[in-house]
Amino acid sequence: MGNTTNSSDFIREIIKEDLAAGRVNQVVTRFPPEPNGYLHIGHAKSICINFEIAKDFNGKTNLRFDDTNPLKEDVEYVNAIKEDVAWLGFEWNGLFFASDYFEEMYDRAVLLIKKGLAFVDDLSAEEIRQTRGSLTEPGQNSPFRDRSVEENLDLFDRMRKGEFKDGEKVLRAKIDMASPNINLRDPVIYRISHATHHNTGDKWCIYPMYAYAHPLEDAIEGVSHSLCTLEFKDQRPLYDWVIRECEMPHVSHQYEFGRLSLTDTIMSKRYLKKLVDEKVVDGWDDPRMPTISGLRRRGFTPEAIRAFVRELGVTVGGGDVDYRQLEHFIREDLKLKAPRTMGVVRPLKVVITNYPEDQVEMLDAEVNAEVPEMGMKQIPFSRELYIEQDDFMEEPPAKYHRLYPGNEVRLKHAYFIKCNDVVKDENGNVVELHCTYDSETKSGSGFTGRKVKGTIHWVDAKSAVPAEYRLYDSLLTGEPADGDLIDRINPNSLEVVHGYVAADLKDAKAQDKFQFFRHGYFNVDPKHSTDEKKVFNLIVSLKSSFK
Ligand code: ATP
Ligand code: MG
Repeated sequence: MGNTTNSSDFIREIIKEDLAAGRVNQVVTRFPPEPNGYLHIGHAKSICINFEIAKDFNGKTNLRFDDTNPLKEDVEYVNAIKEDVAWLGFEWNGLFFASDYFEEMYDRAVLLIKKGLAFVDDLSAEEIRQTRGSLTEPGQNSPFRDRSVEENLDLFDRMRKGEFKDGEKVLRAKIDMASPNINLRDPVIYRISHATHHNTGDKWCIYPMYAYAHPLEDAIEGVSHSLCTLEFKDQRPLYDWVIRECEMPHVSHQYEFGRLSLTDTIMSKRYLKKLVDEKVVDGWDDPRMPTISGLRRRGFTPEAIRAFVRELGVTVGGGDVDYRQLEHFIREDLKLKAPRTMGVVRPLKVVITNYPEDQVEMLDAEVNAEVPEMGMKQIPFSRELYIEQDDFMEEPPAKYHRLYPGNEVRLKHAYFIKCNDVVKDENGNVVELHCTYDSETKSGSGFTGRKVKGTIHWVDAKSAVPAEYRLYDSLLTGEPADGDLIDRINPNSLEVVHGYVAADLKDAKAQDKFQFFRHGYFNVDPKHSTDEKKVFNLIVSLKSSFK
């Protein structure tokens, strides 16, 4: 795994001061996903920040599932999240579930009741909303706010025992209905939900609310710096209140950083789940999805994702990050790692009419011209080849240097060929080219007799491996203001075409990555590629002006 960053940022500065002043002895952070969906690239930012900051200070990072909402959570998500965090290259110290702390959370709520700082409320969710006030108006006290401690203890106990229906009662913190911070206006801290929990089964029918549970989880685990995204800033006073009034022996502190959002994609589990449920995409790991599993299947590497996130830094600023920035990092990472080869996406047959019928010769080529240590390979050449349909035009415009009748081009790693004849089907479509090659012009032979302006790629027809290419474009089009995200789905976000790859990819395995000359980087799709039919996902095109 690469170096963690040495650069500083406001959180690292805070930590340095805390350590220097002795306020903190050990840095402990946590990544606290709710297991209600798969992780996305936004989570990768949070993961990298939490793990890398702790590492910089010889600290620890926990992976904690914030599983306080049984209706939306599932072990499928728990397992996927573990896989994704590990794949990104991080090792957690402790693996925890908020649900393991339900008993302690309950006891702390009882303590709040005893201190007169919590009460059971019979108001409905709607009534609570209506009496909460606004930014300019204070809220109104609930008529149940002054219940006695004894009555509250009794009712809360009966809530736990299942005597009431969902929504019939809640437990609220008793803070201040006139607080300028709406989060402090007697927030609900427990609700009734007769639902089966993925971890605790039917043991509980009351569940703590996030704003109450999260600070307790942090304090129980001895988290020193609880790093979260900016939308929780207004909750910080409540976070501190909970830890203080629940008399937690360890005091955690919350700090906020800016959320990551990317252009032309969705970064909310709710919407991503909708795409999966409505089968708009091929599962959570569809290569168009901004999920970690989607990026992995697309062919992104952990190194590229970490480098991308590191470049963003720990800022509080907002705004969409250009998706092309992420692409930059995968190109950088694969440039020297991926073997280079040739693949024809939309094939056009070429017959070299002056090449002997049964002859096959092996041509030398570098595995990666920029990395000599990767060695050499041999690629077959014979009388019939495929080239790219785009590399031929019967009536070329000016400055078109590829193949057209009478023109000569170089075949990469091979010979000059010249187009003499065009074969068409009954509809007038070009289906085959008849060319001649010049045996003097072999690549690497030092031939200097004449020059050609174009070099094109090709595959040998006899040995080529049929391949399905999946070419991707962004998942969304249009402007964020254009209504429902589902309506912004780009109908051309996936194009499937059938072509060939060079014979050296015969044994390519799932997740192998290659650079196809003049096209870009491709990944062998782990879900659909088989020995019989190879499927290649376009990771990213080359920056070149190909097209
Ligand atoms: P979403 O809104 O996408 O469903 P979430 O915030 O509900 O995400 P959680 O599982 O609660 O998802 O998030 C776990 C952690 O990841 C939290 O600390 C959260 O702040 C952080 N996180 C989530 N989305 C982003 C993002 N886009 N950028 C940075 N951090 C994020
Ligand atoms: Mg959430």
